[in-house]
Amino acid sequence: MNSSELRQTFLDFFESKQHKIESSAPMVIKDDPTLMFTNAGMNQFKDIFLGNSPIKYNRIANSQKCLRVSGKHNDLEEVGHDTYHHTMFEMLGNWSFGDYFKKEAIDWAWELLVDVLKLPTDRLYASVFEGSEEDNMKRDDEAAGYWEKHLPADHIINGNKKDNFWEMGDVGPCGPCSEIHIDLRSEDERKRIPGRDLINMDHPQVVEIWNLVFMQFNRKADGSLEALPHQHVDTGMGFERLCMAMQNKQSNYDTDVFQPIIQAIAKMCGKTYGENEEVDIALRVIADHIRTISFAITDSQLPSNNKAGYVIRRILRRAVRYGYTFLDLKDPFMYRLVEVLIEVMGKHFPELIKQRELIEKVVKEEENSFLRTLANGIKLLDQIIEKTKADDFKVVQGEVAFELYDTYGFPLDLTELILKENGLVVNRREFNEAMEAQKNRSRSATAMETGDWIEILKDDKEEFVGYDYLSTDVKITRYRKM
Ligand code: ATP
Ligand code: MG
Ligand code: MG
Ligand code: MG
Repeated sequence: MNSSELRQTFLDFFESKQHKIESSAPMVIKDDPTLMFTNAGMNQFKDIFLGNSPIKYNRIANSQKCLRVSGKHNDLEEVGHDTYHHTMFEMLGNWSFGDYFKKEAIDWAWELLVDVLKLPTDRLYASVFEGSEEDNMKRDDEAAGYWEKHLPADHIINGNKKDNFWEMGDVGPCGPCSEIHIDLRSEDERKRIPGRDLINMDHPQVVEIWNLVFMQFNRKADGSLEALPHQHVDTGMGFERLCMAMQNKQSNYDTDVFQPIIQAIAKMCGKTYGENEEVDIALRVIADHIRTISFAITDSQLPSNNKAGYVIRRILRRAVRYGYTFLDLKDPFMYRLVEVLIEVMGKHFPELIKQRELIEKVVKEEENSFLRTLANGIKLLDQIIEKTKADDFKVVQGEVAFELYDTYGFPLDLTELILKENGLVVNRREFNEAMEAQKNRSRSATAMETGDWIEILKDDKEEFVGYDYLSTDVKITRYRKM
């Protein structure tokens, strides 16, 4: 089944269960100070769950464009390196607003995956909330009971609060969830490690595909839970992951969602996908990023120097640099991928077709402007890397990253990515200080404040910190390797 048919099958299935089919909300959110991008299907229904909006339809289903590159959900570092996290992805969802609850949500998920889509039952697992002492909550035996009708006991796994209890925030609607995982390991490997005790949910080929959230509590300011007057269901299934399972692939990138784009890039640079890991990562990253950039532009979010616009610019520059360094693509190439993206996704997302010219023009201009300085920036960075390694240092001065940012247009996370490839990190505190100093200089020089610098720094601190090993508030001292 190809991806278009699969998406349609999902929507048709829930339509047959009396769901109203909605179109996707925008991926870029313009009017919510707490969220820059839609990161889950439920975002657009937040006010219904909070009781601030009336319920128009009790049952809704759709495919939502999501982006996870900032805030609580930041998957950017995984993209291209693993096989199933993207920046932009489609989340297939069905919702019940005060209507059906656990039984129907579970039975229908099963009916769709097994009866309609014919996924092999012996490869499916469901997780249920194991309970939490601090919240005085018991295991979700109710959900487990419904799963037991479909799955043997050793395919029902207990999950902790982190994975199996969803909360909107510190206060507000929340509840246990049940996730469906699929074991995509080869037959050989399954034979080698059979059995439940040994099924490792963290195995890279045991993949979470669908999350069913059962909203039944309200978390109060004092931390206690009370039952909600109306119970809701919020589900989200990764469309590209479902395509992988349905098309018998071991990577989302091997499905018809990504292959046409990957092949188009491979053709441009005269390389073959699947021969060299470094090249493959670059091909995957670019195929991923062109989707994000194109869809952001259709939401009228152009690349810019602050907030959401800067996130998009960073993603684009990241892709350009992967092409430049690993695929030898020295001229604008991203804009030429819009055509094939439209072939893959244009039918369901006609905004791509309508805005094709704009997307191509904006992407090409961005590429051109970055390529003007990219070569020199990389040269400078290479020298720094060589010297830092020769000196046996691990940490590059923040001023260098700032110069790359200021003169060569390298977003900080791009400099950090290149350094990481070389086992180095940057001193972020120094970078921030240099940024601050330049802000003060330009303030006194022109007595004109644009606010752009401040925004960028804010976003960097609050929205784009992707690295655990180095955060802005850790004071870094240079050290020598032993
Ligand atoms: P994971 O544990 O794999 O990061 P998650 O638990 O963060 O996923 P949810 O918030 O439960 O994901 O979102 C619902 C579904 O969306 C997931 O079950 C998965 O299929 C899909 N999904 C989540 N993040 C991504 C992503 N970055 N790229 C593609 N699909 C995703
Ligand atoms: Mg995640
Ligand atoms: Mg998960
Ligand atoms: Mg999940």
